[in-house]
Amino acid sequence: MVFSILFLLIFGEVRLLYIRTSDISRGGFDVVASRGKEWIPGVLEGMNAHPLRTCRMREVTLFLDLEGKDLEASGSFSAEGEGECDRCAEPVTVGLEREFRTVFVPASRDPDETGDLELRPGDLDISFYDGRGIEVADIFWEQVALALPTKVLCREECRGVCPQCGADKNRSECNCQGETREGPFDVLKTLRKEKE
Ligand SMILES: [Zn+2]
Ligand SMILES: [Zn+2]
Repeated sequence: MVFSILFLLIFGEVRLLYIRTSDISRGGFDVVASRGKEWIPGVLEGMNAHPLRTCRMREVTLFLDLEGKDLEASGSFSAEGEGECDRCAEPVTVGLEREFRTVFVPASRDPDETGDLELRPGDLDISFYDGRGIEVADIFWEQVALALPTKVLCREECRGVCPQCGADKNRSECNCQGETREGPFDVLKTLRKEKE
């Protein structure tokens, strides 16, 4: 049994597409089929996508279903973002994709009632909501945050820039030697020489 608890939900920050639990019919609610796709390009607006500079949503699927007061969200997304390589500072485009299944339980739920969550099958995430409805942007912000890279590299073997001369080591070899690297004492020596 694998499930993790997510605490990233941002309540009430964005109002893009709010779905009330009363909108969710028996048998579930396909958000894209019933509310269209117009909201998708704007869903990540205002999100801090660090370490990416920008991030846009391209495609999503989202299906909502109720089991009692628990709201189950299953879906997927693909997004694209831009950042800079940590080593050489070249611009990098990063694709993000993820499938998810999250159960939102009412935040006011009696702790004794959460026991049955452990009886649910599979790999699912547990999160919280107010029991009345859910902002679709909140669901996707949480999922995109989980998919963001910790570090941006143009490629795994990027050699970065020379700390001494600034040359891009992916393009050319420079003549700097590791051992001639200037330490703080070298800077002092240079200063002294300049004074003399
Ligand atoms: Zn690089
Ligand atoms: Zn160099």
